[in-house]
Amino acid sequence: MDKGPDPFFQNIDFLPGTKGRRSLLYKKLMGGRVLDALWHLPTGIEVREKIDGLREEFLGKTVTLVARINYHEPSERFGRPYRIVCEVGEEQLELVFFNFRGQYLKGKAIPEKTVMITGKLEYDTRYKQGGWRITHPDYIGRPEELPYWVGAEPIYPLTAGITQPMAKRVIKDALSILPEPSTIQEWIDPDLLAERQWPSWIDALRRVHNPQTYLDISPTSSARGRLAYDELLAHQLSLRFSRRENLKLPSPPLVGTGALTEKLKETLPFSLTPCQLEAIQEISHDLNKPLQMLRLLQGDVGSGKTLVAVMTALQAIESGYQAAILAPTDILARQHYVTLKRLLEPLGISVAILTAREKGVLRRAILTGLEEGTIPLLIGTHAIIQDPVTFKNLGLAVVDEQHRFGVEQRAALCGKGYNPHILSMTATPIPRTLQLANYGDMEVSTLRQKPPGRQPIVTSVLSIDRLDDVITALSRAMDANQKVYWVCPLIEESENLDLAAVTERYAHLSSLFEGKVALIHGKMKSQDKEAAMESFANGQARILVATTVIEVGVDVPSATIMVIEHAERFGLAQLHQLRGRVGRGEGASNCLLLYGGPLTPIARKRLQTMRSTDDGFKIAEADLRYRGSGEILGTRQSGLPKFRFVDLVNKDDLNYEQNAELLLLANQEAKRITQEDPDLKSERGGAIRFLLRLFEYEEIVRYKQAG
Ligand code: ADP
Ligand code: MG
Repeated sequence: MDKGPDPFFQNIDFLPGTKGRRSLLYKKLMGGRVLDALWHLPTGIEVREKIDGLREEFLGKTVTLVARINYHEPSERFGRPYRIVCEVGEEQLELVFFNFRGQYLKGKAIPEKTVMITGKLEYDTRYKQGGWRITHPDYIGRPEELPYWVGAEPIYPLTAGITQPMAKRVIKDALSILPEPSTIQEWIDPDLLAERQWPSWIDALRRVHNPQTYLDISPTSSARGRLAYDELLAHQLSLRFSRRENLKLPSPPLVGTGALTEKLKETLPFSLTPCQLEAIQEISHDLNKPLQMLRLLQGDVGSGKTLVAVMTALQAIESGYQAAILAPTDILARQHYVTLKRLLEPLGISVAILTAREKGVLRRAILTGLEEGTIPLLIGTHAIIQDPVTFKNLGLAVVDEQHRFGVEQRAALCGKGYNPHILSMTATPIPRTLQLANYGDMEVSTLRQKPPGRQPIVTSVLSIDRLDDVITALSRAMDANQKVYWVCPLIEESENLDLAAVTERYAHLSSLFEGKVALIHGKMKSQDKEAAMESFANGQARILVATTVIEVGVDVPSATIMVIEHAERFGLAQLHQLRGRVGRGEGASNCLLLYGGPLTPIARKRLQTMRSTDDGFKIAEADLRYRGSGEILGTRQSGLPKFRFVDLVNKDDLNYEQNAELLLLANQEAKRITQEDPDLKSERGGAIRFLLRLFEYEEIVRYKQAG
């Protein structure tokens, strides 16, 4: 067959076996290119072993042997098998056939003749003859044919209309046109290649299609490891190339003077934690540049992100620009407003709040203040980014709990004619693997430690059947002046049912603890929500019955008990968020996870994870494994990119660990390559271009050439 200059990129119907009616089926099964046939990896292996006697160790295996045919025993009646009895050495072997034409079998296995037989060896004790048997042998032939029926065979995934032999033939065709390994320039760093003992790309392709043992089809085999790394490297490079510095938007440099930030530090009743200081430093460094900052600040619930945001806002204000802090809910915006006013008014900074609630004269005054620049810092909800709001010079936008915001909303902010620096904050830790896979190198600052002096939260998992015990315990705790959140789950299908569940629980608890229970849910007017929060914060109400509206950001340090009903229905990240509402003050805190009905093994494991750790990162990792990535990043983001050789969501630990490690490696390597050879001009750069072309990222390379 003509190899052509670049056989990999030929259309798959370049391969003779795919011609004709079925060519669309091959495309559907494998993909459109010859390369895709090569990348269609076996998912199983069948090993045929040559044996020369019947022994127990071969039971259940697919074997090939030579036997002498003794006699035929046709079926006595319909539904009974047709048997052929033969001899293997001293032993007797029966070949058993159901619904077979005797005539055909007579021609295949002539008594007294020696034949080769291949099939799965069984031993049947039920019949009185008992003994060795092969039911429906895969093949009966002449003894000379035996060598063709020994050894390992790959088993490929199929689609309707394509059989195993058909798939094998096409892949064999594709393998036959592979060039010599030496004709393809290696793109993997030679030291890494040697250290991992990875084969060249061509050899890797040959090996994956020629498995000898089960180890060869494991993702941890060196050939598959290499292909996985190729894919991750190509992906990381594509992320890097598409996010190059010169593609970033310009933003005003916010150099700052330190005047306000230093003053704030002096007035705080505590000192900033080392990781807060470090995050502030990293952000400040970004703000100094004339390029738009797009940084993610992640830190577990209660790790003190707000203060980092405030320090960042002050740097913008010192530089003569305005800053805005966006919160996902009204409650949270108001809470920030109160906190920031208390912190910043002593420094002479006026803070304004703008939500759907600010109306009339007040609203007009705020809008004017923003336009004229007399309001340096605005707190608000989405309302901020709606049309009539005009800033004099918005230099920074902080987006709190960014996973709640759509990418579109961030874009809207930029689209208003400002390119503010953007700091996104999230308390939902994104596991490093997911972060890298999705964002490549979006700058991330992490608050790993919480401020000192926090009490650990004791978490218990209980059946809802023990509600009475829970209530007795609560009543005792309330006598000791404790405060309780009681969360009822969202029932996705119906908001009305949700409301029914919370109002019912509210009625129930109110009847037990009269005048001490408040209710809050998403359908209430914001004044009523605020009143409920206020009554809980000041201690009038001691139980706050809520839906997950309190999930995010709510800070009432005197609350010490969190009860979550139907905890099994929540994502782990969400449970962690909810639990983070307690354990914020001096008092020891408790979290009770109440489940309904019998738990599935996975549900049990998930709740056990909650009980055993308070580390948001570990919880996020566990969530990733038990439920997949969509949960963590929220529904707006689709989760992980689709990989061909890499599975980052698999529950198979070995595979997950390996891929996570390779991902990190690919990330570092992509960084090095783009730094050392940004235009891919070197010899290895050429190889990298080829790699990118393999994974269909060539547009990115071409773009680079043009730009
Ligand atoms: P989150 O990261 O969940 O947004 P917050 O910013 O709401 O956390 O902070 C949680 C609590 O910790 C707040 O009451 C805040 O005042 C307090 N806090 C923040 N930084 C420190 C610190 N360095 N030392 C002591 N307490 C702090
Ligand atoms: Mg917060």
